[in-house]
Amino acid sequence: MHEEAGLHYHRCRWCGTASFRRLLCPVCASSDLKRELSAGVGVVVRTGVVHRYTDAARNESLVRLPEGFVFRCRVVGAPPHQVSVGARVRPVAGDDPDTGEVVFELCEPPRRDDWY
Ligand SMILES: [Zn+2]
Repeated sequence: MHEEAGLHYHRCRWCGTASFRRLLCPVCASSDLKRELSAGVGVVVRTGVVHRYTDAARNESLVRLPEGFVFRCRVVGAPPHQVSVGARVRPVAGDDPDTGEVVFELCEPPRRDDWY
């Protein structure tokens, strides 16, 4: 079983800036960060396909989270090239202790008939 799906990030206790996997606040350089769980529905701001012409093609996207930081991740729920900018996505797994990878899935996947 997965732990509760979500994305952990850090929020600076001094200036409130949200950051992801940083040891210091990117704004005020404070190390006084607290760990929080993102509410989670993000929006794709950039998307692309890595190794498009191999079987291992995978999506790589930048997702903007409501807390104000941008997260690079893989989006699933559709073929890699059918993830579009502006699509809403949510995390499907908690921080993986082995790979550290957090995967997002489309909130409104395209109809399977439209794939390919
Ligand atoms: Zn700060």
